[in-house]
Order: sequence, then structure tokens, then C-alpha cells
Amino acid sequence: MLNTDELAEIIGEHLDPNCVNALTQQLVSVPSHTAEGEEQAAAVLEKFLQSAGISTTRQQVEDVGVNVIATLPSATGNVGLLLNGHLDTVPPSSAMPFPPFAATIEDGKMWGRGTADMKGGIAAMACALAAVRAADIPLVRPLVLAAVASEERGNLGTAALTRSGIRAEWAVIGEATDLNLVTSHKGVDRYRVIVEGRAAHESMPDLGINAITQAASIITGLHETLWPEAKRHSHPVLGHPTYNIGTIEGGTSRNMIPDRCVFQMSKRWLPGDSPEAIRAEIEAAVRSAEPEAKVSVVREPEFDRIPHPPLDIAADHPLVRTLATVTTQLTGRTPRLDSWGAFTDGALLQEAGIPTVIFGPGDVSLAHTDDEHIELSQLMAAAEVYALFAAVVCSSEEMELGQGG
Ligand SMILES: [Zn+2]
Repeated sequence: MLNTDELAEIIGEHLDPNCVNALTQQLVSVPSHTAEGEEQAAAVLEKFLQSAGISTTRQQVEDVGVNVIATLPSATGNVGLLLNGHLDTVPPSSAMPFPPFAATIEDGKMWGRGTADMKGGIAAMACALAAVRAADIPLVRPLVLAAVASEERGNLGTAALTRSGIRAEWAVIGEATDLNLVTSHKGVDRYRVIVEGRAAHESMPDLGINAITQAASIITGLHETLWPEAKRHSHPVLGHPTYNIGTIEGGTSRNMIPDRCVFQMSKRWLPGDSPEAIRAEIEAAVRSAEPEAKVSVVREPEFDRIPHPPLDIAADHPLVRTLATVTTQLTGRTPRLDSWGAFTDGALLQEAGIPTVIFGPGDVSLAHTDDEHIELSQLMAAAEVYALFAAVVCSSEEMELGQGG
């Protein structure tokens, strides 16, 4: 068995410096904000992996796309490390400073849709697998890369991956963290509140029940009960949970008493809370605001199908410590432990019992913007970290792996 310094040396000899830039460019040049495009990006990645001598399989994701799963096998053992990234992007915009799919390189940066979110991360992971394979490091646990479909459209790819029963000791999601470690984010849950009144001519309001007026008083009530209640809870890193009312729709004509008003609300929730408790507190608050109203609280169906729990892994978890140590060794810089506002696939893996952190190249504040780009130096550094971390986790007999979700 090789020690970390020896592993770093042979990986350094086998990690091709052009690999990550070239593969990122190839992936960016295939638009993948549509299902067809995603499948073409999947094919580009498969071709790269296969040419590096790595076997891949495809997993169908409902009727929206495919996950590409690449495995470096070992004779025995559970999967040691699962590297996970998404192949889809948000759509381009006409205001981008460089053509969105040209992957233009200028002054050490690559520009275009998907460079930071997150084709750069996927390319770094794939090149890391290629380096571990080329270095012929004897693995005692398999190393797996899952490039998933449709993360931007409801986390469908990773949900399919966990439903298929994938197991791994640890996982890393390659979203853009500027090479820091994101160990926590809030969960999300969404509800629709449907208020039903009775229609009447506006000249005879006593014959009707105004659903908009009732919804208004329910919303006032929610602000007086749920909002302050949320402020009474807090997490050392994530702060308070928050509620939001995002849409409202009601009435059919300006001269009628409206018989229906619907608003959509969400909660960004903390570890320790649950969808059942959230639904119960919304229902109780709605009832106490308007006891006589005919109201139903309906969870948005996609959240019933794929719950969105928080991510929360301890700062001293061996996964966090080992990845931070490898990052410091290779970059000379101690990574920050961060929390995020945004939801990630990491929470779905953690829910499936796989301890997970988010670590990848690029600046998340550029994701989904016109200025999306990535520093080439971060692409290479990420590939080095992924390769060495994977080699350590999957080749060492003595790792203290697993340790809860
Ligand atoms: Zn992303």
C-alpha cells in the first residue's frame, strides 16, 4: 500500500494537464439545457471515459434523460467513493459576453454556459478517474463517477440514482465551491394553499364568499404566527428557517365575488424539522387564521415524489477532514467549511445513507449568470484533489469509512 505522498507523486505523473480544459470545452460546446442536449453531453463523456479504458453504463432517468455511471472496479469491497455531478445546465442568455457554447479561453479563464455549473466539475472528476486508472493504483474499493441528468429540473438524476439502490462509503458533489467544502444547506418544501369561496355578482356580496379576502387574512395570519415561530429556531451555521409566499392567483372577473384563490408557499428548513411537521404547522396556522374558511393545504407533487431534506455533515467527520487535508496538501491553502443557501443533490445522497460534501472548481455566484466562467487553474487543482482523494479512499486498507448519513 502506498502512502499519500507516493500516491500524489504517481497521480501527478498520470494526470494530463490538458485533459480537464479539453474535456470541459467539449462538454460546454454541447448545449445541455434540453433533454436531447443532455444525452449528447452524456455521449461526449462516455466517449472520453471509454477511450481512457473505463467502463460505463447508462441508467434511464424517467423519460427525461440518462445518468452515466463509470466504475473503476476492485476485486472486493463496497464502493469507496462516489463522485457526482450533473450534465444539464440552465439555458443560455443572449447577453453573455462570449458565445455561450464556444468555451472561449481568455486570460486563464474559460467562458460559457456550464463552465462553472458544472461541466468543469464533471470534467475534473472524469480526468481524475482517468489518472487513477492510468496510474494503475491497486484499489481495495471501487471508485464510481455518476454524471447525472436533470439536476436543474428537480434533481431527477440523483433521485433515480438513489432509487436504484446505489451505495457508497462517501460521496463528493462537484458543484462550484471555489475549492472550499460545503457541509450544510437547508432543505426545501413547497405547498399550495387553496381557498374556496362562493361566486356572486359584485353588487350582492352578501350572497358570496370572497376567496381573495379570506386568502388575504390567512396570509396575514401566517405572517403573525409562522414567521416569528421560524425565527425561534436556529442552526449554528445555517441560521433560521425561512418561509416565503411566492405566487398568488385568484378571481375570474373584476365584477364578481371570487370563488377561488390559490397561493404557493415554501419553507427552507433546518435539520431536525420534517415535511410532516411543516405541513402540520401550516395547516394549524391556516385554520387558526380563518377557522370558517374552506381551505386545503396540498404539498407540491414533485416534493412528495422527491423530498428535499437539508444537508448536514459534521465538521470533524472523517470525510470532511480527509478531503480538507488532501486539498491543503495539493493547493497549499486550507479550504473553508461553508454552508449554502441553495439546495444540492448532496442532500439526496445523505438521505440515502451516504455521507456527502460539496467540493468543486468555480465560483457559485457566477452560476446561472451571463458572466459564467471558470478559472483554468481551479479546474486543474480540482482534478488533482479528486484524483488523490479517490486514490486515498479507494486504495487504503485503513480508512475509517462510512459513519452515517
Ligand atoms: Zn449545479
